[in-house]
Amino acid sequence: MPLPIRSLPVLQNWDCHGCSDCCRTYAVPLSDEERQRIDGQGWANEPGFSGVELFTTVKGNTSLAHRPGGGCVFLNEDGRCRIHAKFGSAAKPLACRAYPFVLVPGGDHWRVGLRFTCPSVAENKGRPMGVHAADAAAYGAELEPRGRPAELPPPPLQPGQSVSWADLHRFTKAIGEIVSTPDVPMEHKLRHVLKLSRTLRKLHFDKVTGQRLSELLEVLTEATAEEVETNANIPPPGWVGRTVFRQLAAIHTRVDLGPNRGTMTESGWFGRMFAGYRFAWGGGAMPRVNGVLPPGVRFEDAERPTGPLPAESEELFARYFRVKLDSLQFAGAINFHLPYWPGLDSLVLIFPMALWLGRLLTTPERSRPIAIREALRIVDDSYGFNALLKGKLSGGLRSLDIKDELPRLVAHYAR
Ligand code: SF4
Repeated sequence: MPLPIRSLPVLQNWDCHGCSDCCRTYAVPLSDEERQRIDGQGWANEPGFSGVELFTTVKGNTSLAHRPGGGCVFLNEDGRCRIHAKFGSAAKPLACRAYPFVLVPGGDHWRVGLRFTCPSVAENKGRPMGVHAADAAAYGAELEPRGRPAELPPPPLQPGQSVSWADLHRFTKAIGEIVSTPDVPMEHKLRHVLKLSRTLRKLHFDKVTGQRLSELLEVLTEATAEEVETNANIPPPGWVGRTVFRQLAAIHTRVDLGPNRGTMTESGWFGRMFAGYRFAWGGGAMPRVNGVLPPGVRFEDAERPTGPLPAESEELFARYFRVKLDSLQFAGAINFHLPYWPGLDSLVLIFPMALWLGRLLTTPERSRPIAIREALRIVDDSYGFNALLKGKLSGGLRSLDIKDELPRLVAHYAR
Protein backbone atom coordinates (compact mmCIF):
# COMPACT_ATOMS: atom_id res chain seq x y z
CA MET A 1 0.00 0.00 0.00
CA PRO A 2 1.42 3.45 -0.90
CA LEU A 3 2.72 5.44 2.05
CA PRO A 4 0.61 8.35 3.29
CA ILE A 5 1.39 12.04 2.95
CA ARG A 6 2.04 14.11 6.05
CA SER A 7 3.15 17.65 6.72
CA LEU A 8 1.42 19.50 3.91
CA PRO A 9 2.53 23.09 4.50
CA VAL A 10 -0.29 24.77 6.44
CA LEU A 11 0.85 28.37 5.94
CA GLN A 12 1.17 27.98 2.24
CA ASN A 13 -1.25 28.41 -0.67
CA TRP A 14 -0.66 27.28 -4.20
CA ASP A 15 -2.32 26.59 -7.54
CA CYS A 16 -0.72 26.43 -10.96
CA HIS A 17 -1.45 29.69 -12.78
CA GLY A 18 -0.07 28.46 -16.10
CA CYS A 19 2.75 31.02 -16.37
CA SER A 20 4.89 28.32 -18.13
CA ASP A 21 7.99 29.52 -16.26
CA CYS A 22 8.86 25.90 -15.36
CA CYS A 23 8.43 24.77 -18.99
CA ARG A 24 10.91 27.42 -20.15
CA THR A 25 13.46 26.87 -17.40
CA TYR A 26 13.91 23.14 -16.83
CA ALA A 27 15.22 20.21 -18.83
CA VAL A 28 12.60 17.70 -17.64
CA PRO A 29 14.13 14.28 -16.78
CA LEU A 30 12.41 11.21 -18.23
CA SER A 31 12.23 7.56 -17.22
CA ASP A 32 12.60 4.94 -19.99
CA GLU A 33 8.85 4.27 -19.77
CA GLU A 34 8.03 7.99 -20.20
CA ARG A 35 10.34 8.28 -23.20
CA GLN A 36 8.70 5.28 -24.87
CA ARG A 37 5.24 6.65 -24.11
CA ILE A 38 6.04 10.04 -25.67
CA ASP A 39 7.75 8.32 -28.63
CA GLY A 40 4.52 6.43 -29.23
CA GLN A 41 2.38 9.59 -29.31
CA GLY A 42 3.17 10.21 -33.01
CA TRP A 43 4.60 13.73 -32.73
CA ALA A 44 6.67 13.47 -35.95
CA ASN A 45 3.43 13.87 -37.94
CA GLU A 46 2.26 16.96 -36.05
CA PRO A 47 2.77 20.47 -37.52
CA GLY A 48 6.01 22.04 -36.26
CA PHE A 49 7.62 18.71 -35.30
CA SER A 50 9.10 17.56 -38.61
CA GLY A 51 12.82 16.86 -38.00
CA VAL A 52 12.61 18.18 -34.42
CA GLU A 53 14.43 16.19 -31.72
CA LEU A 54 12.12 15.44 -28.80
CA PHE A 55 14.82 14.29 -26.39
CA THR A 56 18.30 15.24 -25.22
CA THR A 57 20.61 12.69 -23.62
CA VAL A 58 23.55 13.83 -21.48
CA LYS A 59 25.74 11.24 -19.68
CA GLY A 60 23.03 8.59 -20.13
CA ASN A 61 20.23 10.79 -18.68
CA THR A 62 17.37 11.62 -21.04
CA SER A 63 15.30 14.79 -20.80
CA LEU A 64 12.76 16.66 -22.94
CA ALA A 65 14.55 18.79 -25.56
CA HIS A 66 14.22 22.58 -25.71
CA ARG A 67 13.66 24.65 -28.85
CA PRO A 68 16.30 27.34 -29.42
CA GLY A 69 15.34 30.07 -26.92
CA GLY A 70 11.77 28.78 -26.70
CA GLY A 71 11.58 26.44 -23.74
CA CYS A 72 10.33 22.84 -23.77
CA VAL A 73 9.86 21.31 -27.21
CA PHE A 74 6.17 20.68 -26.34
CA LEU A 75 5.39 24.25 -25.24
CA ASN A 76 2.99 25.85 -27.74
CA GLU A 77 2.65 29.53 -28.76
CA ASP A 78 0.00 30.09 -26.07
CA GLY A 79 2.32 28.88 -23.30
CA ARG A 80 0.46 25.57 -22.99
CA CYS A 81 1.75 21.99 -23.02
CA ARG A 82 0.95 20.13 -26.26
CA ILE A 83 1.04 16.72 -24.54
CA HIS A 84 -1.47 17.94 -21.95
CA ALA A 85 -3.69 19.50 -24.64
CA LYS A 86 -3.77 16.35 -26.81
CA PHE A 87 -3.63 13.47 -24.31
CA GLY A 88 -4.48 14.96 -20.90
CA SER A 89 -2.41 15.62 -17.79
CA ALA A 90 -1.69 11.94 -17.02
CA ALA A 91 0.26 11.60 -20.30
CA LYS A 92 2.89 14.12 -19.16
CA PRO A 93 6.13 13.07 -17.42
CA LEU A 94 5.85 12.79 -13.64
CA ALA A 95 8.38 15.61 -13.12
CA CYS A 96 6.04 18.03 -14.98
CA ARG A 97 2.93 16.92 -13.09
CA ALA A 98 4.55 16.93 -9.64
CA TYR A 99 6.30 20.33 -9.95
CA PRO A 100 6.57 22.35 -7.71
CA PHE A 101 6.02 19.61 -5.09
CA VAL A 102 9.05 17.88 -3.59
CA LEU A 103 8.34 14.56 -1.87
CA VAL A 104 10.76 13.80 0.94
CA PRO A 105 10.96 10.46 2.80
CA GLY A 106 9.90 10.95 6.43
CA GLY A 107 10.02 7.41 7.86
CA ASP A 108 6.65 5.70 7.37
CA HIS A 109 5.26 8.57 5.27
CA TRP A 110 6.13 11.22 2.71
CA ARG A 111 6.59 14.85 3.67
CA VAL A 112 5.80 17.54 1.12
CA GLY A 113 8.17 20.38 0.30
CA LEU A 114 7.82 23.02 -2.39
CA ARG A 115 10.09 24.76 -4.86
CA PHE A 116 9.82 28.49 -4.33
CA THR A 117 11.06 29.05 -7.89
CA CYS A 118 7.44 28.67 -8.96
CA PRO A 119 6.02 32.23 -8.86
CA SER A 120 2.71 31.00 -7.45
CA VAL A 121 4.52 29.40 -4.48
CA ALA A 122 6.67 32.48 -3.85
CA GLU A 123 3.61 34.76 -4.08
CA ASN A 124 1.43 32.40 -1.98
CA LYS A 125 -1.17 32.39 -4.76
CA GLY A 126 -3.95 29.81 -4.88
CA ARG A 127 -5.85 27.52 -2.57
CA PRO A 128 -4.51 26.12 0.73
CA MET A 129 -2.07 23.26 0.19
CA GLY A 130 -4.40 20.78 1.91
CA VAL A 131 -6.55 20.82 -1.26
CA HIS A 132 -3.68 19.15 -3.11
CA ALA A 133 -3.25 16.23 -0.67
CA ALA A 134 -4.71 13.62 -3.05
CA ASP A 135 -2.43 14.75 -5.92
CA ALA A 136 0.62 14.67 -3.65
CA ALA A 137 -0.32 11.13 -2.50
CA ALA A 138 -0.65 10.03 -6.14
CA TYR A 139 2.84 11.40 -6.97
CA GLY A 140 4.25 9.53 -3.94
CA ALA A 141 2.62 6.30 -5.12
CA GLU A 142 4.24 6.78 -8.55
CA LEU A 143 7.67 7.49 -7.08
CA GLU A 144 7.83 4.37 -4.92
CA PRO A 145 8.16 1.82 -7.77
CA ARG A 146 10.84 4.08 -9.30
CA GLY A 147 13.20 3.36 -6.44
CA ARG A 148 12.27 6.38 -4.28
CA PRO A 149 10.87 4.52 -1.26
CA ALA A 150 9.82 6.63 1.68
CA GLU A 151 10.93 3.85 4.05
CA LEU A 152 14.60 4.79 4.27
CA PRO A 153 16.85 5.22 7.31
CA PRO A 154 16.81 8.80 8.59
CA PRO A 155 19.69 11.04 7.50
CA PRO A 156 22.44 11.08 10.17
CA LEU A 157 22.70 14.14 12.41
CA GLN A 158 26.38 14.27 11.50
CA PRO A 159 28.81 11.61 10.26
CA GLY A 160 28.72 8.68 12.72
CA GLN A 161 25.70 9.93 14.73
CA SER A 162 22.13 8.88 13.99
CA VAL A 163 18.82 8.96 15.83
CA SER A 164 15.42 7.39 15.05
CA TRP A 165 12.95 9.05 12.68
CA ALA A 166 10.74 9.95 15.66
CA ASP A 167 13.63 11.74 17.40
CA LEU A 168 14.73 13.44 14.18
CA HIS A 169 11.21 14.90 13.91
CA ARG A 170 11.57 16.15 17.52
CA PHE A 171 14.66 18.16 16.52
CA THR A 172 12.81 19.57 13.51
CA LYS A 173 9.79 20.49 15.64
CA ALA A 174 11.98 22.43 18.10
CA ILE A 175 13.71 24.32 15.27
CA GLY A 176 10.39 24.98 13.54
CA GLU A 177 9.01 26.52 16.73
CA ILE A 178 11.93 28.98 16.90
CA VAL A 179 11.36 29.99 13.28
CA SER A 180 7.63 30.48 13.98
CA THR A 181 8.06 32.81 16.98
CA PRO A 182 5.90 35.86 16.21
CA ASP A 183 7.22 39.44 16.19
CA VAL A 184 10.91 38.49 16.08
CA PRO A 185 12.96 39.32 12.95
CA MET A 186 13.90 36.25 10.92
CA GLU A 187 17.61 37.09 11.12
CA HIS A 188 17.42 36.90 14.94
CA LYS A 189 15.47 33.63 14.81
CA LEU A 190 17.97 32.05 12.41
CA ARG A 191 20.89 33.03 14.64
CA HIS A 192 18.98 31.37 17.49
CA VAL A 193 18.63 28.21 15.37
CA LEU A 194 22.39 28.27 14.77
CA LYS A 195 23.12 28.68 18.50
CA LEU A 196 20.86 25.75 19.37
CA SER A 197 22.27 23.52 16.61
CA ARG A 198 25.87 24.30 17.69
CA THR A 199 24.99 23.20 21.24
CA LEU A 200 23.21 20.03 20.07
CA ARG A 201 26.11 19.01 17.82
CA LYS A 202 28.29 18.52 20.88
CA LEU A 203 25.86 16.14 22.64
CA HIS A 204 25.18 12.38 22.46
CA PHE A 205 21.62 11.11 22.28
CA ASP A 206 22.08 7.37 22.92
CA LYS A 207 20.22 7.58 26.25
CA VAL A 208 18.17 10.72 25.67
CA THR A 209 15.28 9.81 23.40
CA GLY A 210 11.51 10.26 23.14
CA GLN A 211 9.91 12.51 25.77
CA ARG A 212 13.26 13.12 27.52
CA LEU A 213 14.67 14.47 24.27
CA SER A 214 11.65 16.78 23.84
CA GLU A 215 12.21 18.13 27.37
CA LEU A 216 15.93 18.63 26.75
CA LEU A 217 15.16 20.50 23.52
CA GLU A 218 12.72 22.76 25.34
CA VAL A 219 15.30 23.64 28.01
CA LEU A 220 18.10 24.21 25.49
CA THR A 221 15.85 26.32 23.25
CA GLU A 222 15.16 28.65 26.17
CA ALA A 223 18.78 28.74 27.33
CA THR A 224 20.19 29.50 23.87
CA ALA A 225 17.54 32.21 23.27
CA GLU A 226 19.26 34.27 25.96
CA GLU A 227 22.64 33.90 24.24
CA VAL A 228 21.52 35.41 20.91
CA GLU A 229 23.11 38.84 20.67
CA THR A 230 21.45 41.87 19.14
CA ASN A 231 22.26 42.43 15.49
CA ALA A 232 24.38 45.53 16.14
CA ASN A 233 26.83 43.50 18.30
CA ILE A 234 27.62 40.97 15.57
CA PRO A 235 30.84 41.76 13.65
CA PRO A 236 30.77 41.68 9.84
CA PRO A 237 31.86 38.48 8.09
CA GLY A 238 35.61 37.95 7.76
CA TRP A 239 37.64 37.32 4.62
CA VAL A 240 37.00 33.55 4.62
CA GLY A 241 33.28 34.04 5.20
CA ARG A 242 32.92 36.55 2.39
CA THR A 243 35.01 34.55 -0.10
CA VAL A 244 33.25 31.22 0.50
CA PHE A 245 29.86 32.96 0.59
CA ARG A 246 30.39 34.71 -2.78
CA GLN A 247 31.47 31.49 -4.47
CA LEU A 248 28.44 29.57 -3.19
CA ALA A 249 26.20 32.54 -4.03
CA ALA A 250 27.59 32.54 -7.60
CA ILE A 251 26.53 28.90 -8.06
CA HIS A 252 23.09 29.54 -6.54
CA THR A 253 22.61 32.57 -8.83
CA ARG A 254 23.97 31.12 -12.07
CA VAL A 255 21.48 30.06 -14.75
CA ASP A 256 22.57 28.24 -17.91
CA LEU A 257 19.22 27.39 -19.53
CA GLY A 258 16.03 29.28 -20.31
CA PRO A 259 15.21 32.96 -20.78
CA ASN A 260 17.27 34.12 -17.77
CA ARG A 261 20.50 32.36 -18.68
CA GLY A 262 23.60 34.40 -18.01
CA THR A 263 26.04 35.62 -20.61
CA MET A 264 28.69 33.28 -19.13
CA THR A 265 27.19 30.41 -21.15
CA GLU A 266 28.36 32.20 -24.32
CA SER A 267 31.90 32.86 -23.15
CA GLY A 268 33.05 29.23 -22.87
CA TRP A 269 35.46 27.61 -20.46
CA PHE A 270 37.77 30.64 -20.16
CA GLY A 271 34.84 32.96 -19.45
CA ARG A 272 33.56 30.68 -16.70
CA MET A 273 37.03 30.43 -15.15
CA PHE A 274 37.43 34.21 -15.23
CA ALA A 275 33.99 34.64 -13.64
CA GLY A 276 35.01 32.21 -10.86
CA TYR A 277 38.12 34.32 -10.24
CA ARG A 278 36.02 37.52 -10.10
CA PHE A 279 33.67 36.01 -7.53
CA ALA A 280 36.63 34.89 -5.40
CA TRP A 281 38.16 38.38 -5.60
CA GLY A 282 34.83 40.13 -5.04
CA GLY A 283 35.52 43.61 -6.45
CA GLY A 284 34.49 45.57 -9.56
CA ALA A 285 31.92 44.57 -12.17
CA MET A 286 30.06 41.35 -11.39
CA PRO A 287 29.97 38.72 -14.17
CA ARG A 288 26.40 38.38 -15.44
CA VAL A 289 25.79 34.81 -14.24
CA ASN A 290 22.03 35.36 -14.48
CA GLY A 291 20.19 37.40 -17.10
CA VAL A 292 18.00 39.01 -14.40
CA LEU A 293 21.03 40.85 -12.93
CA PRO A 294 20.91 44.51 -14.04
CA PRO A 295 23.72 45.30 -16.51
CA GLY A 296 26.76 46.96 -14.94
CA VAL A 297 26.02 45.73 -11.42
CA ARG A 298 29.10 45.70 -9.14
CA PHE A 299 30.10 43.55 -6.16
CA GLU A 300 30.16 46.68 -3.99
CA ASP A 301 26.42 47.19 -4.68
CA ALA A 302 25.66 44.08 -2.59
CA GLU A 303 27.53 45.45 0.43
CA ARG A 304 25.44 48.59 1.01
CA PRO A 305 23.11 48.21 4.03
CA THR A 306 19.43 48.57 3.14
CA GLY A 307 17.84 48.54 6.60
CA PRO A 308 15.52 46.08 8.33
CA LEU A 309 13.49 43.72 6.18
CA PRO A 310 10.11 44.88 4.84
CA ALA A 311 7.10 43.11 6.41
CA GLU A 312 6.35 41.30 3.10
CA SER A 313 9.85 39.80 3.11
CA GLU A 314 9.54 38.67 6.74
CA GLU A 315 6.28 36.92 5.78
CA LEU A 316 7.93 35.31 2.73
CA PHE A 317 10.86 33.97 4.75
CA ALA A 318 8.53 32.74 7.51
CA ARG A 319 6.68 30.61 4.92
CA TYR A 320 9.89 29.54 3.21
CA PHE A 321 11.61 28.24 6.32
CA ARG A 322 8.48 26.53 7.70
CA VAL A 323 7.90 24.71 4.41
CA LYS A 324 11.54 23.60 4.09
CA LEU A 325 11.84 22.59 7.75
CA ASP A 326 8.51 20.77 8.09
CA SER A 327 9.16 18.83 4.90
CA LEU A 328 12.78 17.97 5.83
CA GLN A 329 13.73 19.39 2.44
CA PHE A 330 17.23 20.16 3.68
CA ALA A 331 18.86 16.89 4.78
CA GLY A 332 19.65 13.53 3.21
CA ALA A 333 19.21 12.47 -0.40
CA ILE A 334 17.06 15.51 -1.24
CA ASN A 335 20.02 17.82 -0.52
CA PHE A 336 23.13 16.08 -1.87
CA HIS A 337 23.12 13.58 1.03
CA LEU A 338 24.07 16.23 3.57
CA PRO A 339 23.66 15.09 7.19
CA TYR A 340 21.04 16.91 9.27
CA TRP A 341 23.18 19.66 10.83
CA PRO A 342 25.13 20.66 7.68
CA GLY A 343 21.82 20.45 5.79
CA LEU A 344 20.32 22.88 8.28
CA ASP A 345 23.31 25.23 7.77
CA SER A 346 22.76 25.08 4.01
CA LEU A 347 19.14 26.11 4.56
CA VAL A 348 20.06 29.03 6.84
CA LEU A 349 22.59 30.16 4.21
CA ILE A 350 19.72 30.74 1.76
CA PHE A 351 18.69 33.76 3.89
CA PRO A 352 21.85 35.89 3.46
CA MET A 353 22.11 34.73 -0.16
CA ALA A 354 18.61 35.92 -1.02
CA LEU A 355 19.26 39.26 0.71
CA TRP A 356 22.66 39.66 -1.01
CA LEU A 357 21.06 39.03 -4.41
CA GLY A 358 18.00 41.10 -3.46
CA ARG A 359 20.25 44.15 -2.99
CA LEU A 360 21.58 43.65 -6.53
CA LEU A 361 18.12 43.21 -8.04
CA THR A 362 16.55 46.28 -6.40
CA THR A 363 16.08 49.02 -9.02
CA PRO A 364 13.80 52.06 -9.38
CA GLU A 365 11.39 49.75 -11.27
CA ARG A 366 11.72 46.76 -8.91
CA SER A 367 10.94 47.51 -5.24
CA ARG A 368 12.95 45.87 -2.46
CA PRO A 369 10.28 43.32 -1.42
CA ILE A 370 9.83 42.21 -5.03
CA ALA A 371 13.61 42.07 -5.56
CA ILE A 372 13.99 39.88 -2.44
CA ARG A 373 11.20 37.59 -3.64
CA GLU A 374 12.82 37.25 -7.07
CA ALA A 375 16.19 36.62 -5.40
CA LEU A 376 14.68 33.86 -3.23
CA ARG A 377 13.14 32.25 -6.32
CA ILE A 378 16.55 32.24 -8.01
CA VAL A 379 18.61 30.83 -5.14
CA ASP A 380 15.95 28.26 -4.23
CA ASP A 381 16.06 26.97 -7.79
CA SER A 382 19.58 25.67 -7.11
CA TYR A 383 18.85 24.53 -3.57
CA GLY A 384 19.18 20.72 -3.54
CA PHE A 385 19.07 20.57 -7.35
CA ASN A 386 22.09 22.31 -8.93
CA ALA A 387 24.64 19.57 -9.64
CA LEU A 388 27.43 22.17 -9.42
CA LEU A 389 26.81 22.32 -5.66
CA LYS A 390 27.47 18.60 -5.24
CA GLY A 391 31.22 18.89 -4.81
CA LYS A 392 31.35 22.40 -3.35
CA LEU A 393 28.54 22.80 -0.81
CA SER A 394 29.73 20.58 2.01
CA GLY A 395 33.34 21.91 1.85
CA GLY A 396 32.07 25.50 1.81
CA LEU A 397 29.75 24.86 4.78
CA ARG A 398 32.64 23.30 6.70
CA SER A 399 34.81 26.41 6.14
CA LEU A 400 31.97 28.69 7.29
CA ASP A 401 31.39 26.51 10.36
CA ILE A 402 35.06 26.40 11.42
CA LYS A 403 35.25 30.21 11.38
CA ASP A 404 31.72 30.61 12.79
CA GLU A 405 30.86 32.85 9.83
CA LEU A 406 27.24 31.83 9.30
CA PRO A 407 25.70 34.02 12.09
CA ARG A 408 27.77 36.95 10.82
CA LEU A 409 26.51 36.49 7.26
CA VAL A 410 22.91 36.25 8.49
CA ALA A 411 23.25 39.45 10.58
CA HIS A 412 25.28 41.38 7.98
CA TYR A 413 22.96 40.99 4.99
CA ALA A 414 19.84 41.72 7.12
CA ARG A 415 21.10 45.25 7.86
S1 SF4 B 1 5.97 27.80 -12.70
FE1 SF4 B 1 4.33 27.23 -11.24
S2 SF4 B 1 2.53 28.49 -11.86
FE2 SF4 B 1 4.00 28.56 -13.56
S3 SF4 B 1 3.35 26.86 -14.95
FE3 SF4 B 1 4.93 26.00 -13.58
S4 SF4 B 1 3.79 25.14 -11.83
FE4 SF4 B 1 2.37 26.51 -12.94
